[in-house]
Amino acid sequence: MTTLSVPAFLRDGDTVPECASTDPDLWFPENGGIRGVVREICGACPYRLPCRDWARARDERGVWGGETETGRRSARLVAGLVRAPAQRETKPCGTYAAYRRHLRKGEQPCRSCQGAERARRAHAPEAA
Ligand code: SF4
Ligand SMILES: [Zn+2]
Repeated sequence: MTTLSVPAFLRDGDTVPECASTDPDLWFPENGGIRGVVREICGACPYRLPCRDWARARDERGVWGGETETGRRSARLVAGLVRAPAQRETKPCGTYAAYRRHLRKGEQPCRSCQGAERARRAHAPEAA
């Protein structure tokens, strides 16, 4: 039987964790979940937290430190290790972009936006 390789964060002399002598498929479930036996093994493992953090930092696949890929993804999001899907930034009034937005909406641009447009024209090399 193939066994899982020893987690790379272990150093020489560290006790080999139980996962290293199990079937690798257990740690990489198709559905991205976690099997009960894996939860138990990780739960009792002295490396649970360093293992989890090691995998989070590298965005590893599979279960590490009792954490699933989904759990890891959320944790990375919370920790700012990945960006949330970008939100379109809305420029505030007083910018040329906001001036254009007023026009697109068929509104009379507000004073700050008119000021921004005037400034843009004043600085344009060939004011149209
Ligand atoms: S926490 Fe789980 S995956 Fe990590 S070393 Fe221990 S048994 Fe292996
Ligand atoms: Zn405005």
